[in-house]
Amino acid sequence: MVSIEEALSIITKQDPALKTEVRKLENCLGYCLAEPIKASFDMPSFDNSAMDGYALCGIFSEYSVVGEVPAGKIDDFDLKEGEAVRIFTGARVPLNATAVVMQEKVIREDNRIRIDGEIREGQCIRKQGEEFREGQLVFDRSFKINPAGIGLLGSLGIDRLQVFKKPEIHLIVTGNELIEPGTPRKEGQIYESNSHALSAACEQYGFNCSRRLQIEDDLEKIRVGIGNSLEKCDVLILSGGISVGDYDYVKQALEENGVEEQFYKVFQKPGKPLYFGKKDDIYIFALPGNPASSLSCFFIYVLPFLNRLAGAEDDILNRFLLPAAHDIQNRADRPSFLKASVKNGKVEILNGQGSSMIRSMAMGNALAYIDAESTIKKGEPVTCYLIS
Ligand code: AMP
Ligand code: MG
Repeated sequence: MVSIEEALSIITKQDPALKTEVRKLENCLGYCLAEPIKASFDMPSFDNSAMDGYALCGIFSEYSVVGEVPAGKIDDFDLKEGEAVRIFTGARVPLNATAVVMQEKVIREDNRIRIDGEIREGQCIRKQGEEFREGQLVFDRSFKINPAGIGLLGSLGIDRLQVFKKPEIHLIVTGNELIEPGTPRKEGQIYESNSHALSAACEQYGFNCSRRLQIEDDLEKIRVGIGNSLEKCDVLILSGGISVGDYDYVKQALEENGVEEQFYKVFQKPGKPLYFGKKDDIYIFALPGNPASSLSCFFIYVLPFLNRLAGAEDDILNRFLLPAAHDIQNRADRPSFLKASVKNGKVEILNGQGSSMIRSMAMGNALAYIDAESTIKKGEPVTCYLIS
């Protein structure tokens, strides 16, 4: 049995080989860059107008209008003192323009304009290179591409990127009692829900389970199922059959497939019978079967590791220290992850903490970490993992 810290450090210490691929820009959301991106030109690449209005030469109260520059036009006016051109947002500012004035502050009569208010030199002009310069680092390797990132990369003219591949994930659930939702249920059977919850959790964070398999509690069948997956996936997630019951064959089946245990059993609640193993470059998490235990282990242990395989540098789980909304007591003799709701910046512990109960997890949005046999007073900080 290891502590939570030991388990996390064993996972973090792994040095997985990362794979890369080239993807089209539009298919890169949520991927991490496998190469640093430097600007191939200044941003913006020319002085341009921040407003629809007039570009002015010199500072006066009146100007004569000598032309017009719409966005995308490259005519260069040679403005003289007291002259102005009509200009539109994003259009290149004539070289000797002093400032741009927005059209709302201008009174126009034929080809003359009068300015209402003061003009500051350089106002409403976006200067060439003011965001960044040619050659400057825009995004480092491992940057996780978000919508603004996609926009910026596009504005740099980039249409293809070298990114880290997302891991290929397989999911195997075990249990004789499990039947598929939508089928008639006999006494003693339960609907299989972990594969649905776990693959949805993967999907929520941009990962895809490419294979989902349900196997009964049969050593041979589990051994074969695991063996087939180990030939194809990067990460194998199992649920159920990893505890100490007579029908819990997962650990033995992993061993018979040559998987090397990295840890088994974590001193925590829920999720004590958590197993982490490795075979060559393939990583195996066997999660307890109880629905809340398996999901909670997924968020705390599996998800940060999936993010690392996808090229992210730090564990980007949303961990926060937030004040308790009320006194929180953990009577358990093990450190616990309690199902919680973060509301108005405060942590509220929810009813229904049993390992099999996931309604509270569905209604909440966080797991609150509380030391064994300890109390956190209202207002004191609680470590929380946001899970939605
Ligand atoms: P196990 O870890 O196999 O001993 O299972 C612990 C508890 O979780 C038992 O009550 C199982 O019926 C339940 N369980 C196991 N696997 C699943 C699953 N895939 N979906 C829903 N419940 C499950
Ligand atoms: Mg079972």
